[in-house]
Order: sequence, then structure tokens, then C-alpha cells
Amino acid sequence: MGKRITLVDLNNFSYYPTISMGLVARYIRDAGFDLEFISPLSNGIKYREREKVETKIDYYKARLIFSQRKPVRWAIMQAEKFPFVKERILNKSKLSNFVINRLHSDTDLLLISTYTENFSICKKVVAEATRRGIPVIVGGPAFNLQSHVDQFLSIDGVEFVVGSEIDDYLGKLLHDYFQGEDIYKYPGVYSREKSAVSNAYIFKHLEQLPVPDYRDFPWDKYPNRIIPYMSGRGCSWGKCNFCSDVVLVNGRLYRSQSSEKVLADLKALSEQVGTNIFAFTDLKMNSNVEVWNSVIDGLPQIVDDPIWFCSVHVDNRKRNGLDGETLMKAKKAGLTRISFGLETASQPLLDDMQKGTTVARLDQFVNDVYAAGISLRATMFIGYRHEKASDLKQTLEFLKKNAHCFERIKLCRFQMYDQTPIIDELTAEERKQVYARQINHLYRSRAYLKYKKGIIKVVHQINSKKLNEAARAFDGVM
Ligand code: SF4
Repeated sequence: MGKRITLVDLNNFSYYPTISMGLVARYIRDAGFDLEFISPLSNGIKYREREKVETKIDYYKARLIFSQRKPVRWAIMQAEKFPFVKERILNKSKLSNFVINRLHSDTDLLLISTYTENFSICKKVVAEATRRGIPVIVGGPAFNLQSHVDQFLSIDGVEFVVGSEIDDYLGKLLHDYFQGEDIYKYPGVYSREKSAVSNAYIFKHLEQLPVPDYRDFPWDKYPNRIIPYMSGRGCSWGKCNFCSDVVLVNGRLYRSQSSEKVLADLKALSEQVGTNIFAFTDLKMNSNVEVWNSVIDGLPQIVDDPIWFCSVHVDNRKRNGLDGETLMKAKKAGLTRISFGLETASQPLLDDMQKGTTVARLDQFVNDVYAAGISLRATMFIGYRHEKASDLKQTLEFLKKNAHCFERIKLCRFQMYDQTPIIDELTAEERKQVYARQINHLYRSRAYLKYKKGIIKVVHQINSKKLNEAARAFDGVM
């Protein structure tokens, strides 16, 4: 009898299936194994709400969250550490119980895909699997970092952690595993016996990627039937010093699929799932301008009335694909919502973070998006290194001038993540100021606080608007 593999996707934040899980499902089936798929979204575990129409309460919450007073920061950090609060907020015990209840005892191997934030859920599920004698392998995009690998290998019952792009070899690895062969010959395989091995492997043949298999996902539980798709991995710019996406397992080098393959995949997926809604999850959809233009020209020809969403980088290239005329065409081709990283409207800070753009281009872009009638979402942060009152003043002026162009802004406190270039760039003085991944305590002044408050207020006003009707399919997406 064939081996039975259970695949658990612990990442329940999505409004659509996880692409990597769709691919893993395809690889497992293509290798001849029986697959049982457990997604926490099915059977009553709700997706997490990400964005909504803000109320006054959200405004005061933001004021609190952005407070730079150490006692307030300390209190927030303590609350986050308090296990009961975390459990409640993240619904963790419900998640682990759900997975445990669905786990069949005749499973030959349990594969768990997880982010590090789901450590406690993973631990509970693995404990139960071990009690039933089911071996466990854990994987995910964050496992190119040794500390993350070691953390999950410390769970009793986790036999291997895999942190790599497995597209080329997952089926072979699983066959070797069941036959008791050496699986360390595959990149990114770690165990307690062999954990300190660095993995520089990058999968370069994206043209060989199969069409993901999304049949197992709980489509009836998602708010909309949105097909996720990635035309390329990584980012053609890849230089922003704060970016944690381009240090993850599959983001480290930019690679693109051809226009022909992208369009063929989109057609096949539309037929598989029976929908015309797509979310392009590329870090930077305009990395390859040829593919970007092909999607704009080709998608309406292969799918009736497509609706789609993507993220772009407003970079300094002469032809970055984001001129007014192209955006108009994209809108006609179904581009309904677009997201970009504004970060700040201070040129010195944009230069310091190597954002590869200018305030003038950002200004032109947001107005072109507005003129095209596309819903605009941006991410930005407060608290970057060297940030002064004058930087916040420029950002506030930019936001006030262009508030009508935005439908949503995700404003965060600036934080530094493992392996990002900024960590090495910090001066000794800045290192002393790091507190909860942040470095901004040096810059507090009356003017700084005034402009910060102004930014929070404008962002709140923008986020209090109702989303435009057409973009609602993507509310909360990314
Ligand atoms: S453009 Fe975006 S994805 Fe690319 S390096 Fe910068 S932040 Fe990261």
C-alpha cells in the first residue's frame, strides 16, 4: 500500500491558499503518495482580519502603539509575552486542537509548514503525533536561519527541519526518507545530529515549476475565491537595507518565469479553481517589465473579466512599467488594487535605506494610480534610524497633499529583522539604543512628536474611508 502523508499548513493569515502548499501538494501527489491536507482555515478556524474601516478607537490604539515612552513600550512588550494574551489573540490552542483532531493515526509521515510564530502550536501537534508514533518533518521559509532551525529541532519528535526551496527534489527526498536512505544529500535538511550546515542552494529553474494544486484548500471558508500566483521569486532590486523578504529561503535571488508560462499557468489555475480573481504575490510584480506588460496585455485574453491585485516597487528605472499610460491599460485589464512600499517621503531617509526611488517619482506614481481609478494601498513606517522631525514633516506634507490617492495605509513602527543589512550598518551608539528591535529613542522632541501625531491622524483618516466597491475582493489581502 502507498505511504500516506499528512501535510499541515499552519499559516492561517491568508485570504487565499498558500502557493508553496499548493506546490508541495502537487509534488507529493506526483511522487505517488496519498495526501491528506489539513488547513486550519477549514472547520471553524477563521482567517485573521488584517485591515478594516478604522474607528476612533483604532486611532487611540495607534497613538499608544506608536508611543516612544519606555514604560508604554515595556507594558506592550510584557502584554505580548503574557502567554494567555497571546493564546487568546492568536487562537493558538484552538488551532492545535483542530489539527490534532484531524490527524489520522495511520499517517506514515506528518509534514508541518510553519512560521516561527506558530512554535507553540507546532510543539503541541508534534507531541500528539509522537505519542501516536508518527514521525514529523517541519519546514518553512524562515528556516534558513540557524537559530530558527535549532528552535524547532529542540521539539521532541521533530526528526528533521527542512529550510530550502524543495521544488527540484521533494518527491525524491520523501522516497529516500521512507527507504531509510541518506537525505542529507538534499540541500537544507537539518537534524539534531546535523544542524550547523549553511545552505546557499537556490532553485533557478522556475520554468519547470508545475501548476500548483489548490484542490485541497477550504475554498468555501475564504471570503473570496482568490488564486495566488507568483510570476517570479525574489526582487529585481533587492537592496533595501530593512527588507526581510529578500533574506528568506525563496526570496534571496531574483528569478522570473517567462511570459508564456505565466499566462499558461494563470489560464490553468482559473480553470482549476473556477474564478477570475488573482493575487500576484510577487515581492515586486514589475521586476520583469516584459512579464508585467504581458500580464496586462494577455490576461484579459485568457480569462473573462479578470480582477487582480499586485505589489510593485516604484523604482528609478527609466521604464519601470508604472507610467500613467501603462497603469490605465492595467486598470482596463482588471488591475483593481495595487500596493507599494512608501516607507517615508523624506529623500535622505529613502537614500539611507537604499530604497532606489525619489519622492518625486512616488508623488507621480500615487497620482497616476488615482487617475487610473485603481485602489491604492501603501506600507510605511515611523522610527527609522536618523529620523528627525524634519523627515516626519516632509512625510506629513506628502500624505496631506496626496491623501485622496490612498485607500489604505499600513503604518508600522520601524523594526529590524534578523539577517537584514541594516543590522550590520548600525553604529555602536545606535546599537546601544536598540530596544525591542527599534532604534528611535534618541529622536524624541516636541516637533518630532507633533509631526508623528499628524501622520497617525492622516493615516487614520485615510483608513476610515470605505473601500471602493471594486477593490473589496482584496480588502485585507497583503
Ligand atoms: S523593493 Fe521591496 S521587496 Fe525589493 S528589496 Fe525593497 S522592500 Fe524588499
